Amino acid sequence: METLLLTEKETEQAARLLRGGRLVGIPTETVYGLGADGLNPMAVRAIFQAKGRPQDNPLILHIPEAGWLERYCRDIPPAAWTLAERFWPGPLTMVLSCKRRTARELEELKNSPVCSRTHFGPRVIPDEVTAGLDTVGMRCPAHPLCRAVIAAAGVPVAAPSGNTSGKPSPTSARHMLADMEGKIDAVLDGGPCAVGVESTILDLTCTPPRLLRPGGITLEQLEEVLGEVAVDVAVRRQLGEGERPRAPGMKYRHYAPRAPVTVVKGDPERAAAYIREHLSRTRWDGVICFEEFLPLFTGGDVTRPVMSLGPAADKAEQARRVFDALRAMDGTDVKRIWCQCPDDGGLGLAVANRLNKAAGFHIVGV
Ligand code: AMP
Ligand code: MG
Repeated sequence: METLLLTEKETEQAARLLRGGRLVGIPTETVYGLGADGLNPMAVRAIFQAKGRPQDNPLILHIPEAGWLERYCRDIPPAAWTLAERFWPGPLTMVLSCKRRTARELEELKNSPVCSRTHFGPRVIPDEVTAGLDTVGMRCPAHPLCRAVIAAAGVPVAAPSGNTSGKPSPTSARHMLADMEGKIDAVLDGGPCAVGVESTILDLTCTPPRLLRPGGITLEQLEEVLGEVAVDVAVRRQLGEGERPRAPGMKYRHYAPRAPVTVVKGDPERAAAYIREHLSRTRWDGVICFEEFLPLFTGGDVTRPVMSLGPAADKAEQARRVFDALRAMDGTDVKRIWCQCPDDGGLGLAVANRLNKAAGFHIVGV
């Protein structure tokens, strides 16, 4: 299939494709998403196929305004409304209990002609979105083009990140096409993503609320509103053999370029010196480092792939660049990647989480 690259003037066409059950790459402020009509089980199944995504990894549902929560969720705690007021539209996903159909609605569906071809469970949102869980991840995105498409489509849009499963997330239309050309109907070009890492996922079905994935809204921002926030162990370390993940997505390999990654964590000067010392003197070792340390790794007699994460003190820039830096390494023939990493404060928690996962938690402390 030919994948169309749509411009902002063609938002209506993107919405029409979504309504027709097709897949469209859509820009959001976090990363590009692979969108489908979240109420159409067949369309949602096609997302899993295009990405090669495991069936038990649920999707986030994107809505145009907080008011839509009541259509799909039940037992919504007051904290959800407070958070929506403060952070929506924006990079926060709330995990809430999924609304259930009434017995009558189920009976009506059973007799509908569509039902013979697709599966409708007791939940208002198809099981294909929730992976059969009793909860659903909900987000109201801020990117103006994304909002325009969702509003024009008039349906909640199910969208995971638009990468092939396991690979770094796409932060530009070019990245999206690199993974999805020929597999989906269109990509809507909304420019580079302003945040660059995925949304923060917060589970509001437990007390205290639990951070499942650090992202564009920081833990400190959440704590300011909620007081106590639990941080899931899987955010900072790899789960052990017998440990069960809180959310299905946590158990999968993520964000990984082809070559193995080693993260060097600690004081930036010391980390850069450590990498310089352990780096092979061949072009087979790539480096992702903070801007100020570029001269340590460029120049000299070996030309190796080196990518800047941005200045050591600018975590927002690091978030914008992290996936592009990881992806760029796949365009080279490096056999190993060394990587500097910010501390866990603010957006650093999200950047470090993505790098640690890309490294399969192969981390050296200095
Ligand atoms: P992606 O958009 O590909 O980065 O993936 C979306 C993430 O949201 C995955 O890690 C899912 O496991 C997570 N997610 C979606 N829905 C839920 C849910 N109901 N409960 C917990 N996590 C969820
Ligand atoms: Mg993803």
